Amino acid sequence: MLKDILYSVLWNKCPKCHSTKVFETSVFQLKSFDKMHKTCSCCGEKYEKEPGYFYGAMYVSYALMAG
Ligand SMILES: [Zn+2]
Repeated sequence: MLKDILYSVLWNKCPKCHSTKVFETSVFQLKSFDKMHKTCSCCGEKYEKEPGYFYGAMYVSYALMAG
């Protein structure tokens, strides 16, 4: 689960179908983080059901990038 979310944040893809964007723009533009889609337009996956996972994964991603 967390691995899927991390994948989604890093590559900006739906954690379920991997075919649509989760965010309007790059997740590394913090100001755009609130532009996160609520659901996947392809498979209907609800991203907002586990917002904590996305924040956590973002934090890990930044740590990795800064690494
Ligand atoms: Zn999807």
